[in-house]
Amino acid sequence: MKYISTRGNAPELDFEQVLLTGLANDGGLYVPKTLPTFSQQQIAAWAGLSYEQLAFEVISPFIGDCIPEQDLKQILGETYKDFSHPAIAPLIQLDRNEWVLELFQGPTLAFKDFALQLLGRLLDYVLKRRNQRVVIMGATSGDTGSAAIEGCRHCDNIDIFILHPHNRVSEVQRRQMTTVLEDNVYNIAVEGNFDDCQDIVKASFRDQSFLPEGMQLVAVNSINWARIMAQIVYYFYASLSLGGPEKTVAFSVPTGNFGDIFAGYLAKKMGLPISQLVIATNKNDVLHRVMTDSVYSRTDLHQTLSPSMDISVSSNFERLMFDLYDRDGDRIRELMDAFNSGSIELDDDAMAGARDLFSSAAIDDDATCQVIADTYKNAAYMLDPHSATGVGAGRICNKNTEQPMIVLATAHPAKFPDAIAKSAIGVEPKMPAHLADLLEREERFSVLPCEKAAVNQFMTDHL
Ligand SMILES: *Cc1c(COP(=O)(O)O)cnc(C)c1O
Repeated sequence: MKYISTRGNAPELDFEQVLLTGLANDGGLYVPKTLPTFSQQQIAAWAGLSYEQLAFEVISPFIGDCIPEQDLKQILGETYKDFSHPAIAPLIQLDRNEWVLELFQGPTLAFKDFALQLLGRLLDYVLKRRNQRVVIMGATSGDTGSAAIEGCRHCDNIDIFILHPHNRVSEVQRRQMTTVLEDNVYNIAVEGNFDDCQDIVKASFRDQSFLPEGMQLVAVNSINWARIMAQIVYYFYASLSLGGPEKTVAFSVPTGNFGDIFAGYLAKKMGLPISQLVIATNKNDVLHRVMTDSVYSRTDLHQTLSPSMDISVSSNFERLMFDLYDRDGDRIRELMDAFNSGSIELDDDAMAGARDLFSSAAIDDDATCQVIADTYKNAAYMLDPHSATGVGAGRICNKNTEQPMIVLATAHPAKFPDAIAKSAIGVEPKMPAHLADLLEREERFSVLPCEKAAVNQFMTDHL
């Protein structure tokens, strides 16, 4: 399997190379050169497979001969063993044709565990084989940092540095990162905001000369192809659980960077019968606006009750644009250059293709709380605020109420107790047992000034 850049001007890579690369060197994102496709018979034959077994079937064509079958099977077994539900991604019924796919049964209680538990292990595997060490560097405002740390804490060939804005992440989110005490894990609290952290990370990737000889930085944000790949699996899993591929299903996906829902789009292109993909956003509605009027433009960032969807630009949308423009890399480069200095209007023909499959709705904080309250009252089920935007948007956009609408539940409600309190359902969410003592655990992190030099110095001192 070969990977190409959405801007058409970077070397083709194989899976191992793409795993170790973030952005392509032409500024684009890597995508498979051709997608594997499966017939209805092939998919039907997977009914009854365990999550790990299904993951092997869906993922192995993307990896090709980079990893031998037996080794990949072992990696997948390890990846999902720390999930607390035996089904890995259980489905819960809320209404006759409304379902929730619980993607928060992993160690850090958000769907990012699905991708990052696998990414850490894949990296460690290829690094051992190459006899190489790498440095992972990332910035987080919430769930990515803890999932990345959890995915890498046991990796011998990785040091991981995660920057978060000092005093600006919730206590639960901070402690999920800072109570991991392995020697290869470094939490840096930067005296600045999230954008400052991200700027330092970006500048460090551009100029890596501070690193010791032979070392390189690796990105774990959602532009990393392997993360998208891992997320394709649960679309197949959910569909098969509800009678697919004979039965067609729809999905509603709480969306920030367009990574998770792009995986659903790929599942459809690979042969899974999906009639509709609903883009659920909060007040940060860049995707809802581009779906509505074809204008792709940033606005100011709003703080909402669903902070993991608080973004002003959705990086992975470029991967969809690449297909909408018939994989014309030169055109995408022009468009993205124009977008970087303002807003752009996309071709109606191109957008018409997207509108056949995608619908969208923006759910504000009041509506989010209303969905949490109604769902608790009617189905005795507690949604987290991100998942609630998915339920809300799924109801607004549903084109066929005779088909199952599967809402991806992306986080556990105990991660966001303030939103639950605002919804006034009269109960507090309960932390799962493995994190019950989180607030008593020892923490370790370093507070550093908001300067690239200071952060880079800290890194070289600890490598
Ligand atoms: C990251 C995240 C999202 C958004 O996912 P994208 O892949 O960026 O669209 C939604 N919900 C939760 C809880 C998240 O952590």
